[in-house]
Amino acid sequence: MTRAIVIGAGVVGCSTAWSLARAGLDVVIVERAPRVGMGSTSASSAIVRMHYSTFEGVAVAWEAKQAWEDWPAHLGVVDEAGMARYIETGILMLDSPGFDASRVLALYDRFGIPYEVLSAAAICNRFPYLTPDRFWPPRAVDDDRFGDPPDGEIGGFYTPQAGFVDDPTLAAHNLWAAATAAGAVTEYRAEVAEIFHTAGGVGGVRLADGRELAADVVVNVAGPHSAAINRLAGVLDDFAISTRPLRQEVHQVAGPPELGGQVGVSVGDGDLGTYFRFTPGGGVLVGSQEPDCDELEYLDDPDANNINPTVAGFERQTLRVARRMPSIGIPNRPTGLAAAYDVTEDWIPIFDRTSLDGYFVAIGTSGNQFKNSPVIGSLMTAIITDALAGGDHDARPVTWTAPRTGSVVDLSHYSRLRSPNAASSNSVLG
Ligand SMILES: Cc1cc2nc3c(=O)[nH]c(=O)nc-3n(C[C@H](O)[C@H](O)[C@H](O)COP(=O)(O)OP(=O)(O)OC[C@H]3O[C@@H](n4cnc5c(N)ncnc54)[C@H](O)[C@@H]3O)c2cc1C
Repeated sequence: MTRAIVIGAGVVGCSTAWSLARAGLDVVIVERAPRVGMGSTSASSAIVRMHYSTFEGVAVAWEAKQAWEDWPAHLGVVDEAGMARYIETGILMLDSPGFDASRVLALYDRFGIPYEVLSAAAICNRFPYLTPDRFWPPRAVDDDRFGDPPDGEIGGFYTPQAGFVDDPTLAAHNLWAAATAAGAVTEYRAEVAEIFHTAGGVGGVRLADGRELAADVVVNVAGPHSAAINRLAGVLDDFAISTRPLRQEVHQVAGPPELGGQVGVSVGDGDLGTYFRFTPGGGVLVGSQEPDCDELEYLDDPDANNINPTVAGFERQTLRVARRMPSIGIPNRPTGLAAAYDVTEDWIPIFDRTSLDGYFVAIGTSGNQFKNSPVIGSLMTAIITDALAGGDHDARPVTWTAPRTGSVVDLSHYSRLRSPNAASSNSVLG
Protein backbone atom coordinates (compact mmCIF):
# COMPACT_ATOMS: atom_id res chain seq x y z
CA MET A 1 0.00 0.00 0.00
CA THR A 2 1.31 3.48 -0.83
CA ARG A 3 2.22 5.34 2.35
CA ALA A 4 1.47 9.07 2.44
CA ILE A 5 2.36 11.71 5.02
CA VAL A 6 0.34 14.91 5.05
CA ILE A 7 2.20 17.69 6.87
CA GLY A 8 -0.37 19.93 8.59
CA ALA A 9 -3.84 19.32 9.98
CA GLY A 10 -5.42 22.56 8.79
CA VAL A 11 -8.57 22.58 6.71
CA VAL A 12 -6.62 21.92 3.49
CA GLY A 13 -4.42 19.23 5.05
CA CYS A 14 -7.44 17.38 6.43
CA SER A 15 -9.17 17.58 3.04
CA THR A 16 -6.06 16.18 1.37
CA ALA A 17 -5.74 13.37 3.93
CA TRP A 18 -9.41 12.49 3.51
CA SER A 19 -9.24 12.29 -0.24
CA LEU A 20 -5.96 10.33 -0.29
CA ALA A 21 -7.30 7.84 2.27
CA ARG A 22 -10.43 7.37 0.18
CA ALA A 23 -8.21 6.73 -2.84
CA GLY A 24 -6.68 3.82 -0.92
CA LEU A 25 -3.43 5.34 0.38
CA ASP A 26 -2.17 4.61 3.88
CA VAL A 27 -2.26 8.16 5.31
CA VAL A 28 -0.58 9.69 8.36
CA ILE A 29 -1.31 13.33 9.19
CA VAL A 30 1.62 14.91 11.01
CA GLU A 31 0.70 18.00 13.00
CA ARG A 32 2.91 19.90 15.39
CA ALA A 33 0.00 21.41 17.32
CA PRO A 34 -2.05 19.39 19.82
CA ARG A 35 -5.27 19.75 17.79
CA VAL A 36 -6.71 20.12 14.30
CA GLY A 37 -7.09 23.53 12.63
CA MET A 38 -4.82 25.68 14.81
CA GLY A 39 -2.98 27.45 11.95
CA SER A 40 -4.49 29.95 9.45
CA THR A 41 -7.67 27.90 9.57
CA SER A 42 -8.50 28.93 13.13
CA ALA A 43 -8.35 32.61 12.16
CA SER A 44 -10.24 32.32 8.90
CA SER A 45 -13.18 34.60 8.22
CA ALA A 46 -14.52 31.55 6.35
CA ILE A 47 -16.34 33.59 3.71
CA VAL A 48 -17.66 31.45 0.88
CA ARG A 49 -18.02 33.40 -2.38
CA MET A 50 -17.61 32.56 -6.00
CA HIS A 51 -15.97 35.71 -7.36
CA TYR A 52 -12.46 35.01 -8.57
CA SER A 53 -10.82 36.62 -11.56
CA THR A 54 -10.04 33.37 -13.39
CA PHE A 55 -12.16 30.58 -14.88
CA GLU A 56 -10.44 27.99 -12.65
CA GLY A 57 -10.96 30.08 -9.53
CA VAL A 58 -14.70 30.42 -10.14
CA ALA A 59 -15.09 26.77 -11.21
CA VAL A 60 -13.53 25.41 -8.02
CA ALA A 61 -15.36 27.86 -5.72
CA TRP A 62 -18.72 27.11 -7.36
CA GLU A 63 -18.15 23.37 -6.89
CA ALA A 64 -17.00 23.78 -3.29
CA LYS A 65 -20.01 25.91 -2.46
CA GLN A 66 -22.30 22.99 -3.41
CA ALA A 67 -20.36 20.86 -0.92
CA TRP A 68 -20.75 23.38 1.92
CA GLU A 69 -24.49 23.47 1.31
CA ASP A 70 -24.65 19.71 1.60
CA TRP A 71 -21.92 19.32 4.20
CA PRO A 72 -22.89 16.14 6.11
CA ALA A 73 -23.72 14.33 2.86
CA HIS A 74 -20.52 15.59 1.22
CA LEU A 75 -18.45 14.11 4.05
CA GLY A 76 -20.55 11.03 4.60
CA VAL A 77 -19.80 11.10 8.34
CA VAL A 78 -21.27 12.71 11.40
CA ASP A 79 -18.54 14.19 13.59
CA GLU A 80 -19.40 13.86 17.26
CA ALA A 81 -17.70 17.23 17.86
CA GLY A 82 -20.61 18.77 15.87
CA MET A 83 -20.94 19.84 12.26
CA ALA A 84 -19.95 23.21 10.83
CA ARG A 85 -22.84 25.09 9.28
CA TYR A 86 -22.99 27.04 6.04
CA ILE A 87 -24.89 30.30 6.49
CA GLU A 88 -26.09 31.89 3.28
CA THR A 89 -26.01 35.68 3.55
CA GLY A 90 -25.31 36.72 -0.01
CA ILE A 91 -22.33 38.96 -0.70
CA LEU A 92 -22.34 42.50 -2.03
CA MET A 93 -19.22 43.47 -3.95
CA LEU A 94 -19.03 47.23 -4.06
CA ASP A 95 -17.64 48.92 -7.15
CA SER A 96 -14.14 50.26 -6.99
CA PRO A 97 -11.61 51.18 -9.68
CA GLY A 98 -9.34 48.45 -8.28
CA PHE A 99 -11.79 45.61 -8.97
CA ASP A 100 -12.86 44.53 -12.45
CA ALA A 101 -16.43 43.37 -11.84
CA SER A 102 -17.13 42.86 -15.55
CA ARG A 103 -14.53 40.10 -15.75
CA VAL A 104 -16.11 38.28 -12.79
CA LEU A 105 -19.65 38.69 -14.11
CA ALA A 106 -18.65 37.32 -17.52
CA LEU A 107 -17.36 34.23 -15.68
CA TYR A 108 -20.57 34.04 -13.63
CA ASP A 109 -22.52 34.01 -16.89
CA ARG A 110 -20.47 31.06 -18.15
CA PHE A 111 -21.27 29.06 -15.01
CA GLY A 112 -24.86 30.26 -14.60
CA ILE A 113 -24.10 31.71 -11.16
CA PRO A 114 -26.96 34.00 -10.16
CA TYR A 115 -26.18 37.67 -9.45
CA GLU A 116 -27.81 41.09 -9.52
CA VAL A 117 -26.18 44.37 -10.44
CA LEU A 118 -27.37 46.96 -7.91
CA SER A 119 -27.40 50.74 -8.21
CA ALA A 120 -26.63 52.92 -5.18
CA ALA A 121 -30.37 53.44 -4.69
CA ALA A 122 -31.02 49.70 -4.81
CA ILE A 123 -28.29 49.11 -2.21
CA CYS A 124 -29.94 51.66 0.12
CA ASN A 125 -33.28 49.97 -0.37
CA ARG A 126 -32.08 46.41 0.09
CA PHE A 127 -29.51 47.00 2.83
CA PRO A 128 -30.57 50.17 4.68
CA TYR A 129 -27.76 49.75 7.24
CA LEU A 130 -25.15 50.33 4.49
CA THR A 131 -24.34 53.60 2.82
CA PRO A 132 -23.40 53.49 -0.88
CA ASP A 133 -21.15 56.54 -0.48
CA ARG A 134 -18.01 56.63 -2.56
CA PHE A 135 -14.83 57.16 -0.51
CA TRP A 136 -12.22 56.00 -3.03
CA PRO A 137 -9.26 55.80 -2.73
CA PRO A 138 -8.77 53.94 0.56
CA ARG A 139 -6.74 56.10 2.93
CA ALA A 140 -4.75 55.57 6.11
CA VAL A 141 -6.73 56.74 9.13
CA ASP A 142 -4.04 59.29 10.01
CA ASP A 143 -4.30 60.76 6.51
CA ASP A 144 -5.81 64.27 6.81
CA ARG A 145 -8.27 63.35 4.08
CA PHE A 146 -9.52 60.15 5.76
CA GLY A 147 -12.65 61.92 7.03
CA ASP A 148 -13.34 63.80 3.80
CA PRO A 149 -17.00 63.84 2.79
CA PRO A 150 -17.94 61.20 0.22
CA ASP A 151 -17.41 61.87 -3.43
CA GLY A 152 -20.64 60.60 -4.99
CA GLU A 153 -22.15 57.13 -4.74
CA ILE A 154 -21.34 53.61 -5.92
CA GLY A 155 -23.21 50.51 -6.94
CA GLY A 156 -22.11 46.91 -6.85
CA PHE A 157 -23.15 43.38 -7.61
CA TYR A 158 -24.89 40.98 -5.29
CA THR A 159 -24.39 37.20 -5.32
CA PRO A 160 -27.26 35.71 -3.28
CA GLN A 161 -25.71 32.26 -2.89
CA ALA A 162 -22.56 33.36 -1.05
CA GLY A 163 -22.18 33.18 2.72
CA PHE A 164 -19.86 31.93 5.42
CA VAL A 165 -19.09 28.84 7.49
CA ASP A 166 -19.89 29.44 11.14
CA ASP A 167 -16.85 27.65 12.62
CA PRO A 168 -13.78 27.10 10.41
CA THR A 169 -11.91 25.06 13.01
CA LEU A 170 -14.88 22.74 13.37
CA ALA A 171 -15.05 22.42 9.57
CA ALA A 172 -11.41 21.26 9.60
CA HIS A 173 -12.31 18.83 12.37
CA ASN A 174 -15.19 17.52 10.25
CA LEU A 175 -12.79 16.85 7.37
CA TRP A 176 -10.38 15.24 9.83
CA ALA A 177 -13.21 12.99 11.12
CA ALA A 178 -13.98 11.95 7.55
CA ALA A 179 -10.25 11.28 6.94
CA THR A 180 -10.08 9.24 10.14
CA ALA A 181 -13.15 7.25 9.17
CA ALA A 182 -11.45 6.52 5.84
CA GLY A 183 -8.41 5.14 7.69
CA ALA A 184 -6.04 8.11 8.15
CA VAL A 185 -4.22 8.35 11.46
CA THR A 186 -2.90 11.52 13.08
CA GLU A 187 0.28 12.25 14.99
CA TYR A 188 -0.15 15.40 17.12
CA ARG A 189 2.67 17.37 18.72
CA ALA A 190 4.73 15.96 15.87
CA GLU A 191 6.87 18.64 14.26
CA VAL A 192 8.55 17.81 10.97
CA ALA A 193 12.23 18.75 11.40
CA GLU A 194 13.71 16.97 8.40
CA ILE A 195 12.58 15.47 5.09
CA PHE A 196 14.79 12.65 3.91
CA HIS A 197 15.29 11.29 0.43
CA THR A 198 15.90 7.87 -1.02
CA ALA A 199 17.42 7.10 -4.40
CA GLY A 200 13.94 7.17 -5.95
CA GLY A 201 12.72 10.43 -4.41
CA VAL A 202 11.26 11.39 -1.07
CA GLY A 203 11.74 8.82 1.71
CA GLY A 204 9.80 10.28 4.62
CA VAL A 205 10.10 12.73 7.49
CA ARG A 206 12.09 12.95 10.71
CA LEU A 207 10.27 14.58 13.62
CA ALA A 208 11.73 17.00 16.15
CA ASP A 209 11.48 14.26 18.80
CA GLY A 210 13.74 12.04 16.67
CA ARG A 211 11.11 9.67 15.31
CA GLU A 212 11.34 8.72 11.66
CA LEU A 213 8.28 8.08 9.49
CA ALA A 214 8.89 6.49 6.10
CA ALA A 215 6.60 7.32 3.18
CA ASP A 216 6.30 7.11 -0.60
CA VAL A 217 4.35 10.39 -0.74
CA VAL A 218 4.84 13.51 1.39
CA VAL A 219 2.46 16.45 0.98
CA ASN A 220 3.37 19.89 2.29
CA VAL A 221 0.17 21.51 3.58
CA ALA A 222 1.88 23.54 6.29
CA GLY A 223 0.13 26.87 5.65
CA PRO A 224 2.39 29.84 6.55
CA HIS A 225 5.22 27.35 7.23
CA SER A 226 5.13 26.08 3.64
CA ALA A 227 8.42 27.71 2.59
CA ALA A 228 10.19 26.32 5.67
CA ILE A 229 8.98 22.82 4.77
CA ASN A 230 10.04 23.25 1.12
CA ARG A 231 13.46 24.28 2.41
CA LEU A 232 13.64 21.04 4.43
CA ALA A 233 12.75 19.11 1.27
CA GLY A 234 15.47 20.96 -0.66
CA VAL A 235 13.09 22.03 -3.42
CA LEU A 236 12.92 25.83 -3.01
CA ASP A 237 14.79 26.37 -6.28
CA ASP A 238 12.19 24.29 -8.08
CA PHE A 239 9.55 27.01 -7.71
CA ALA A 240 8.99 29.90 -10.11
CA ILE A 241 6.31 31.21 -7.69
CA SER A 242 7.18 31.59 -4.04
CA THR A 243 5.15 31.62 -0.82
CA ARG A 244 5.50 34.08 2.06
CA PRO A 245 3.61 34.49 5.34
CA LEU A 246 1.70 37.76 5.54
CA ARG A 247 0.38 39.02 8.90
CA GLN A 248 -3.35 39.75 9.07
CA GLU A 249 -5.72 41.18 11.64
CA VAL A 250 -9.44 40.54 11.80
CA HIS A 251 -11.47 42.70 14.18
CA GLN A 252 -14.87 42.27 15.70
CA VAL A 253 -17.42 45.02 16.25
CA ALA A 254 -21.09 45.08 17.20
CA GLY A 255 -23.54 45.00 14.30
CA PRO A 256 -25.85 47.86 13.35
CA PRO A 257 -28.61 48.21 15.98
CA GLU A 258 -31.33 48.36 13.31
CA LEU A 259 -30.59 44.71 12.48
CA GLY A 260 -31.42 43.70 16.06
CA GLY A 261 -28.81 40.91 16.14
CA GLN A 262 -29.81 39.54 12.73
CA VAL A 263 -27.13 38.48 10.29
CA GLY A 264 -26.72 40.97 7.43
CA VAL A 265 -25.15 40.72 4.02
CA SER A 266 -21.40 40.01 3.61
CA VAL A 267 -19.57 42.85 1.87
CA GLY A 268 -16.41 43.16 -0.23
CA ASP A 269 -15.58 46.84 0.07
CA GLY A 270 -12.72 47.67 -2.29
CA ASP A 271 -13.81 51.31 -2.10
CA LEU A 272 -12.60 51.45 1.52
CA GLY A 273 -10.13 48.53 1.36
CA THR A 274 -11.97 46.17 3.71
CA TYR A 275 -14.31 43.21 3.72
CA PHE A 276 -16.74 42.29 6.44
CA ARG A 277 -19.22 39.63 7.34
CA PHE A 278 -21.61 39.11 10.23
CA THR A 279 -21.26 36.49 12.95
CA PRO A 280 -24.19 34.24 13.91
CA GLY A 281 -24.86 36.48 16.96
CA GLY A 282 -25.12 39.61 14.81
CA GLY A 283 -21.59 40.96 15.39
CA VAL A 284 -19.36 41.91 12.47
CA LEU A 285 -15.90 40.59 11.53
CA VAL A 286 -13.78 43.09 9.60
CA GLY A 287 -10.74 42.09 7.55
CA SER A 288 -8.48 43.80 5.08
CA GLN A 289 -8.29 43.82 1.29
CA GLU A 290 -4.73 45.16 1.60
CA PRO A 291 -5.26 48.56 -0.05
CA ASP A 292 -2.16 50.33 -1.39
CA CYS A 293 -2.16 52.83 1.49
CA ASP A 294 -1.51 50.06 4.07
CA GLU A 295 1.93 48.60 4.57
CA LEU A 296 1.91 44.82 4.14
CA GLU A 297 3.47 42.99 7.07
CA TYR A 298 5.35 40.05 5.54
CA LEU A 299 6.90 37.83 8.20
CA ASP A 300 10.35 36.25 8.01
CA ASP A 301 9.30 33.77 10.66
CA PRO A 302 5.60 32.90 11.08
CA ASP A 303 6.35 31.73 14.63
CA ALA A 304 7.45 35.26 15.52
CA ASN A 305 4.04 36.72 14.65
CA ASN A 306 2.39 38.99 17.23
CA ILE A 307 -0.98 37.24 17.55
CA ASN A 308 -2.64 40.15 19.34
CA PRO A 309 -4.54 42.75 17.34
CA THR A 310 -2.86 46.15 17.44
CA VAL A 311 -4.50 49.49 18.20
CA ALA A 312 -3.36 50.81 14.80
CA GLY A 313 -4.82 47.84 12.93
CA PHE A 314 -8.03 48.00 14.91
CA GLU A 315 -8.53 51.70 14.25
CA ARG A 316 -7.74 51.31 10.58
CA GLN A 317 -10.32 48.60 9.94
CA THR A 318 -13.09 49.57 12.30
CA LEU A 319 -13.07 53.24 11.29
CA ARG A 320 -13.30 52.16 7.67
CA VAL A 321 -16.23 49.84 8.30
CA ALA A 322 -17.91 52.59 10.34
CA ARG A 323 -17.91 54.75 7.23
CA ARG A 324 -19.85 52.01 5.41
CA MET A 325 -22.17 51.19 8.35
CA PRO A 326 -22.45 54.47 10.24
CA SER A 327 -24.63 53.10 13.05
CA ILE A 328 -22.28 50.37 14.26
CA GLY A 329 -20.77 50.45 17.73
CA ILE A 330 -16.98 50.54 17.96
CA PRO A 331 -15.49 49.00 21.12
CA ASN A 332 -12.95 51.18 22.91
CA ARG A 333 -10.22 48.55 22.89
CA PRO A 334 -9.08 46.19 20.15
CA THR A 335 -11.10 43.01 19.86
CA GLY A 336 -10.24 40.37 17.32
CA LEU A 337 -7.22 38.34 16.33
CA ALA A 338 -4.04 38.33 14.32
CA ALA A 339 -2.75 35.45 12.21
CA ALA A 340 -0.99 34.94 8.89
CA TYR A 341 -1.85 33.99 5.32
CA ASP A 342 0.56 32.04 3.13
CA VAL A 343 0.72 34.28 0.05
CA THR A 344 2.03 33.77 -3.50
CA GLU A 345 3.03 36.55 -5.89
CA ASP A 346 -0.29 36.30 -7.75
CA TRP A 347 -2.48 35.30 -4.78
CA ILE A 348 -3.35 32.01 -6.48
CA PRO A 349 -2.34 28.85 -4.58
CA ILE A 350 0.19 26.23 -5.63
CA PHE A 351 -1.28 22.73 -5.89
CA ASP A 352 1.42 20.70 -7.56
CA ARG A 353 4.03 17.98 -7.74
CA THR A 354 7.70 18.95 -7.48
CA SER A 355 11.01 17.85 -8.97
CA LEU A 356 11.51 15.63 -5.89
CA ASP A 357 9.52 12.51 -6.80
CA GLY A 358 6.82 11.77 -4.24
CA TYR A 359 6.91 15.29 -2.73
CA PHE A 360 3.80 17.43 -3.37
CA VAL A 361 2.51 20.82 -2.22
CA ALA A 362 -0.86 22.40 -1.44
CA ILE A 363 0.41 25.80 -0.34
CA GLY A 364 0.22 29.55 -0.95
CA THR A 365 -3.49 29.60 -0.23
CA SER A 366 -3.29 33.42 -0.12
CA GLY A 367 -6.13 34.14 2.27
CA ASN A 368 -8.74 32.78 -0.12
CA GLN A 369 -8.85 28.99 -0.03
CA PHE A 370 -10.85 28.09 3.07
CA LYS A 371 -13.94 28.11 0.90
CA ASN A 372 -12.38 25.64 -1.54
CA SER A 373 -11.15 23.22 1.10
CA PRO A 374 -13.98 20.68 0.57
CA VAL A 375 -12.59 19.93 -2.89
CA ILE A 376 -8.86 20.76 -2.70
CA GLY A 377 -8.12 17.25 -1.43
CA SER A 378 -9.68 15.87 -4.57
CA LEU A 379 -7.56 18.17 -6.79
CA MET A 380 -4.42 17.06 -4.95
CA THR A 381 -5.36 13.40 -5.23
CA ALA A 382 -5.75 13.80 -9.00
CA ILE A 383 -2.21 15.23 -9.21
CA ILE A 384 -0.72 12.65 -6.82
CA THR A 385 -2.33 9.58 -8.40
CA ASP A 386 -1.24 10.80 -11.83
CA ALA A 387 2.37 11.00 -10.61
CA LEU A 388 2.16 7.59 -8.94
CA ALA A 389 0.94 6.15 -12.23
CA GLY A 390 3.98 7.60 -14.03
CA GLY A 391 2.32 10.75 -15.39
CA ASP A 392 4.20 14.01 -15.84
CA HIS A 393 1.88 16.79 -14.72
CA ASP A 394 4.47 19.42 -15.71
CA ALA A 395 4.46 18.28 -19.33
CA ARG A 396 0.96 16.82 -19.61
CA PRO A 397 -1.26 18.66 -17.13
CA VAL A 398 -3.86 16.72 -15.19
CA THR A 399 -7.45 17.88 -15.56
CA TRP A 400 -10.04 17.61 -12.82
CA THR A 401 -13.78 17.31 -13.41
CA ALA A 402 -15.95 18.86 -10.72
CA PRO A 403 -18.35 16.09 -9.67
CA ARG A 404 -21.43 18.25 -9.01
CA THR A 405 -21.10 21.14 -11.44
CA GLY A 406 -19.25 19.33 -14.23
CA SER A 407 -16.56 21.98 -14.90
CA VAL A 408 -13.29 20.68 -16.27
CA VAL A 409 -10.30 22.40 -14.68
CA ASP A 410 -6.76 22.26 -16.06
CA LEU A 411 -4.71 21.90 -12.88
CA SER A 412 -1.64 23.54 -14.43
CA HIS A 413 -3.43 26.73 -13.36
CA TYR A 414 -1.91 26.02 -9.92
CA SER A 415 1.56 25.08 -11.18
CA ARG A 416 4.68 26.02 -9.21
CA LEU A 417 6.34 26.71 -12.58
CA ARG A 418 3.87 29.36 -13.77
CA SER A 419 4.59 33.01 -14.33
CA PRO A 420 2.36 35.15 -12.09
CA ASN A 421 -1.14 34.90 -13.57
CA ALA A 422 -1.87 38.20 -15.34
CA ALA A 423 -5.62 37.72 -14.91
CA SER A 424 -5.38 37.61 -11.11
CA SER A 425 -6.70 40.48 -9.00
CA ASN A 426 -3.33 40.21 -7.19
CA SER A 427 -5.21 40.55 -3.96
CA VAL A 428 -6.96 38.36 -1.42
CA LEU A 429 -9.84 38.18 -3.91
CA GLY A 430 -7.70 35.82 -6.01
C1 LIG B 1 -7.23 36.13 8.90
C2 LIG B 1 -7.61 35.16 7.81
C3 LIG B 1 -8.84 35.30 7.17
C4 LIG B 1 -9.19 34.42 6.14
N1 LIG B 1 -10.41 34.53 5.58
C5 LIG B 1 -10.77 33.67 4.59
C6 LIG B 1 -12.07 33.73 4.02
O1 LIG B 1 -12.91 34.53 4.44
N2 LIG B 1 -12.38 32.85 3.03
C7 LIG B 1 -11.48 31.94 2.54
O2 LIG B 1 -11.81 31.20 1.61
N3 LIG B 1 -10.24 31.87 3.07
C8 LIG B 1 -9.87 32.69 4.09
N4 LIG B 1 -8.64 32.61 4.65
C9 LIG B 1 -7.68 31.63 4.11
C10 LIG B 1 -7.90 30.24 4.68
O3 LIG B 1 -8.23 30.30 6.04
C11 LIG B 1 -6.62 29.42 4.44
O4 LIG B 1 -6.39 29.38 3.04
C12 LIG B 1 -6.74 28.01 4.97
O5 LIG B 1 -7.18 27.99 6.31
C13 LIG B 1 -5.37 27.33 4.88
O6 LIG B 1 -5.48 26.05 5.45
P1 LIG B 1 -4.21 25.11 5.48
O7 LIG B 1 -4.67 23.81 5.99
O8 LIG B 1 -3.52 25.16 4.18
O9 LIG B 1 -3.19 25.82 6.49
P2 LIG B 1 -3.21 25.99 8.08
O10 LIG B 1 -4.57 26.09 8.61
O11 LIG B 1 -2.26 27.09 8.39
O12 LIG B 1 -2.61 24.62 8.59
C14 LIG B 1 -1.22 24.31 8.48
C15 LIG B 1 -0.88 23.37 9.61
O13 LIG B 1 0.47 22.94 9.44
C16 LIG B 1 1.04 22.76 10.72
N5 LIG B 1 2.49 22.77 10.60
C17 LIG B 1 3.28 23.82 10.21
N6 LIG B 1 4.58 23.46 10.25
C18 LIG B 1 4.61 22.17 10.65
C19 LIG B 1 5.66 21.24 10.90
N7 LIG B 1 6.96 21.57 10.73
N8 LIG B 1 5.35 19.99 11.32
C20 LIG B 1 4.04 19.62 11.50
N9 LIG B 1 3.00 20.48 11.30
C21 LIG B 1 3.28 21.72 10.87
C22 LIG B 1 0.49 23.94 11.50
O14 LIG B 1 0.56 23.71 12.90
C23 LIG B 1 -0.95 24.04 10.98
O15 LIG B 1 -1.87 23.34 11.79
C24 LIG B 1 -8.27 33.43 5.71
C25 LIG B 1 -7.04 33.28 6.36
C26 LIG B 1 -6.71 34.13 7.40
C27 LIG B 1 -5.39 33.97 8.09
